[in-house]
Amino acid sequence: MASQTGAIVQQSLHALLEDHTFLPNLHGQSRKQAFTSLAAILSTPNHIHKSFLRVPLDNGKVVRIPAFRVQHNDTLGPYKGGIRFHESVNEEEVINLAALMTLKNALHEVPFGGGKGGVVLNPRDYSERELHLICEKYVRYFSDIIGPDKDIPAPDVGTGDREMDWMMAEYKSINPGKPYRGSFTGKSIVNAGSLGRREATGRGVYFTFRYLLYDFLKEQRQWLASRNNKFAKTALALADKPLTLAVQGFGNVGSIAALEAYQCTSLTNKIIAVSDRNVTLYNEAGLNIPALITYTSSNHGELPTTLEQLQTHQIDAEIKSRDEILTLSVDVLILAALEDQIHKDNMNKIQAQLIVEGANAPISGEADAYLSNKGVIIIPDILANAGGVIVSYFEWLQGRETQFYTEKEVYQLLYEKMSLTLKTILPQYFNDPFPLRQNCYIHAVMKLCTILYRQGKLY
Ligand code: GLU
Repeated sequence: MASQTGAIVQQSLHALLEDHTFLPNLHGQSRKQAFTSLAAILSTPNHIHKSFLRVPLDNGKVVRIPAFRVQHNDTLGPYKGGIRFHESVNEEEVINLAALMTLKNALHEVPFGGGKGGVVLNPRDYSERELHLICEKYVRYFSDIIGPDKDIPAPDVGTGDREMDWMMAEYKSINPGKPYRGSFTGKSIVNAGSLGRREATGRGVYFTFRYLLYDFLKEQRQWLASRNNKFAKTALALADKPLTLAVQGFGNVGSIAALEAYQCTSLTNKIIAVSDRNVTLYNEAGLNIPALITYTSSNHGELPTTLEQLQTHQIDAEIKSRDEILTLSVDVLILAALEDQIHKDNMNKIQAQLIVEGANAPISGEADAYLSNKGVIIIPDILANAGGVIVSYFEWLQGRETQFYTEKEVYQLLYEKMSLTLKTILPQYFNDPFPLRQNCYIHAVMKLCTILYRQGKLY
């Protein structure tokens, strides 16, 4: 996945250069020169920080665990992005995920730059005491570069509010007397977290999908029908029928997106499959998502894997292998697991006509081009999964002011922000030949370009 994420950034920059109408007026400055400077700025991170966290384990052994914090770009504000705990974390991946954060924030007008952190470990292999120590060491090792106005980490794969609380507490004890509530986001509510933050990514993922097929179509159906565009045809075909959905990943993002779909009354959709790291559960008549969420919340977050477990909990589903979810005959696929799930080896087996990227970079560059070429609508990560960082921004604001919003206020602000982006991007998308990802990249890059140009940085 690593180099492909970068390749997509480059492709989008080239699309931007080729069509000069996208570039702001540069007052006579050579556009080629501006592009070259911009490409150099965006294709490399500002800083790569690495360390080995030295951690004494419960059994007396001492291990050194590789850890990263990449600060990609701070044109729009302090660096911002999650910290991932996963055994496959590597430097290249963290760099690309940090670049995605720069673009995600620019696209949605969040006044933050892009950053990302990672620690190479499987959290399941460590005790709570060990994980606590790892979090404290991470903050201690990177304490010079983290802070509410410098770089604000948040949860990502393998981390959550528990880790953010530990990290904020460590930041606070290293920086006595300094503001600390805005140093980390995604914290628990009692520790100055925001209501709605935990569900924000999943809710936002479903919101972008519903907005495209319902809110936007309700207003623009006629206009859309007049477009000679393969994506407009796909959208219209999907809008006219009851939809079947499959959700890959049943963690914080997938389960909430599935629940939103289950509860949605404006669209007729049923979730016929969900999956996690062990299995796919399938029911043609529709799965009972609340029952599955109740099950996972008392079973270490994992879906039932045996018939006996299904029967005991009165869950009506067929068990299939984990990766079968990707190639099922469904209208919509929500990818909420890890990166690089659809790639050159399975791209020609994908049957969904609309794919929503709840995870970051779940589709390889090659598969993205192949599916887009066939008219499959892909709602890209930086558009679909920004709910988390948007509510992180609200959390940061609330922490600074020590004034907290109600859950209703948080969601109202979240949906307003996402609607504004969608309102700008969708007409552009259905009007030109670029896939939605390229449109989003162009929009984000344009914003950064205009700011950097006006700051005199594009020489
Ligand atoms: N890890 C999330 C993401 O990839 C959230 C980042 C944040 O809240 O800063 O967007």
